Amino acid sequence: MWPQPVMGFFWNFVLPLLPLSFLMTPVLWRAVCPLATLNMLAANPRGRQLPSEVMRWAGWPAMLMLVVLVPARHLGLNHEPMAFTALVLGAALVACVLGRQYQARAGFCNLICPVLPVERLYGQLPLADIGNPRCSDCTVCTPRGCPDLAGSKTLPQLLGPLRKERGWLMTATGVFACAFPGFIAGYFRVPDGASAMTTYASVIGWSLFSWLLLGSAARVTSLASRVALPLYGALAAALYFWFAAPGALTTVDARGAYVLPVLRAALLLLVGAWFVRTQRLAVRATRG
Ligand code: SF4
Repeated sequence: MWPQPVMGFFWNFVLPLLPLSFLMTPVLWRAVCPLATLNMLAANPRGRQLPSEVMRWAGWPAMLMLVVLVPARHLGLNHEPMAFTALVLGAALVACVLGRQYQARAGFCNLICPVLPVERLYGQLPLADIGNPRCSDCTVCTPRGCPDLAGSKTLPQLLGPLRKERGWLMTATGVFACAFPGFIAGYFRVPDGASAMTTYASVIGWSLFSWLLLGSAARVTSLASRVALPLYGALAAALYFWFAAPGALTTVDARGAYVLPVLRAALLLLVGAWFVRTQRLAVRATRG
């Protein structure tokens, strides 16, 4: 069974490092993730691919998993060893079963993994378009929007022609980008041990509020997806680091009056620099 300090270290210190790595490139985590490893070990070369027509709704299952699983951290996953063990074993089993039925990452990593929408939002303009060594012989198991294969073209591939119109707002990618800042705020407003009703009402209520607010703002101002997606991604990342920083410092016993403000300032600067870079690259791509 997992002792409490191990669970605390995983949730409060290891997990917040993932969004940080996604801002650089999601491929790093996708190359070493234990569940992705199981998925690839079980993968069936004769398994199914994700058909092109499925890609229209393929962003939704992972979002649904995120909405179900992340609030469940407050209900027990954060502090109950049994619940945490059940999650780890259950996820490992699902990664293996779907690995047997689909080619490469088509059934788990690129369809239902709850981390996938975050990888795509934060990893939309990776520092370098490096391929995943695990997929050196790509079988195109996922025809559009695979972060390992498409790199900086992941979101444009998913949105297709809709990225140049307002239609992007109603795609899974658009809905997620608008709702995710609220999702993060709703999660951190609830303490561990709150009831299921309170937890899900907070997360879903704040997500809806965020979706309406940011979606309306993008619609009214005709904000292009190439600006809105990085902007809302940066907003979500900034909120996440702001709220997660105290827990990470407590876990490693970092004390001192200036430690938290300095860490928060450094993380916000990093997110700001990431957003500026996305806009520079977007302008360069438009001119090119
Ligand atoms: S790189 Fe190719 S084989 Fe690997 S997950 Fe992406 S589409 Fe599938």
